[in-house]
Amino acid sequence: MPTESQLRNALLRLRVRKRINAGRLPVMVPTRIDAGYGSGHVCVACDQPITSTQVEYELADYRDGSQLCFHLGCHVVWQVECSRLEARRSAPDVPPDSENLSKRCWRHSPPYG
Ligand SMILES: [Zn+2]
Repeated sequence: MPTESQLRNALLRLRVRKRINAGRLPVMVPTRIDAGYGSGHVCVACDQPITSTQVEYELADYRDGSQLCFHLGCHVVWQVECSRLEARRSAPDVPPDSENLSKRCWRHSPPYG
């Protein structure tokens, strides 16, 4: 049985993936991230406000410089999806669930949830 947090994480990944496909989220590895406590911005991944007790990650969309705000956990999910897509793009012959790729994904981002 998956735990509740695993289910939530799976739903969030699905949502993030859809937003990437729809162009609402870029595929990028941010070079500069501002982190701090939330100031009421709405998270671009889950549409929930980031409260002052939660950590907010803020970065600029490389496409138009617009501000993207994420919960810490949502940012991790988005980056996992980005590295998965980037790996697929640069090495189309490697299956997405290969051992190498999952190692690469988790090296920068600890498992969420
Ligand atoms: Zn969020």
